[in-house]
Amino acid sequence: MKDIAKKRNTLAILEQYHLSPNKKFGQNFLIDLNMITKIVSSYHLDEETCVIEIGPGIGALTEQLAKRAKKVLAYEVDTSLKEALNQLQQTYPNIEVIYQDILKIDLKQVVLELKQTYKHVKIIANLPYYITTDILEHIISSDCDIESIHAMVQLEVADKLIDSNYVSPLTLMIDSIGTITKDIKVPRTVFYPAPHVDSAIISIEKQTAYDTRLDTILLYAFKQKRKTIYNNLKPLFKDQTESILKEANIETSLRPEQIKIQTYKKFCQYMEADYEN
Ligand code: SAM
Repeated sequence: MKDIAKKRNTLAILEQYHLSPNKKFGQNFLIDLNMITKIVSSYHLDEETCVIEIGPGIGALTEQLAKRAKKVLAYEVDTSLKEALNQLQQTYPNIEVIYQDILKIDLKQVVLELKQTYKHVKIIANLPYYITTDILEHIISSDCDIESIHAMVQLEVADKLIDSNYVSPLTLMIDSIGTITKDIKVPRTVFYPAPHVDSAIISIEKQTAYDTRLDTILLYAFKQKRKTIYNNLKPLFKDQTESILKEANIETSLRPEQIKIQTYKKFCQYMEADYEN
């Protein structure tokens, strides 16, 4: 079936394959072709681009990505969608679907292999809301060689991520690799079933490699948000903590969210190779 994103087509596919949107996997399917066309046009896809899509669902977005990119490699956790997606793959042989949890995928290795064939690799997703942060952190901390991430997230989450006054491990991870923008607001009415909140597309352009030692630094720094940076980093840097903070001109009384990414990056140099999360 063509134009899956039209509401009547989505409903027909769900009926044909005896499916219903599964809350457990955060399934809200896009049912507005105009909106998808607008979103996909903003991604600047071409014949040299491979898209890694997270969570294709029944393929509303996947279909439009496959029309514009050379290849779409999609990861879907819900195997009950297999028959519906098989049908789509018959029309678009440039779609490959792997039925696995994206959080268990070694993205660094996957992208390394894709880059042997494709000039540009971009990650695109209409993210399941319940694991938005986990997925974005997983992508960034894999330090895979992608050009950008374009993700649909809850509007409130998008607003927080672009707010320079809001600081979390994820915003610091984003700051450490590039820039983030909020691109398109997406009303709740373009989903089936309609969620309780509106959404927005965020784009992260990757400009620098990710220092994977930040995973451990940020884990310790934000272990207890109400504690000072000194108290949080003490179990990691032990007797060296005070001198490391002094060297970076950081008061021991500061909270983790008051410290800029440049300083966290400096802390990485004090990590010993065998520290583990
Ligand atoms: N892309 C489709 C669309 O826009 O209509 C579906 C989006 S729906 C919000 C999220 C999709 O992510 C669902 O298909 C869900 O099964 C899938 N999903 C949820 N958790 C996942 C995970 N850990 N790994 C891969 N896919 C996941």
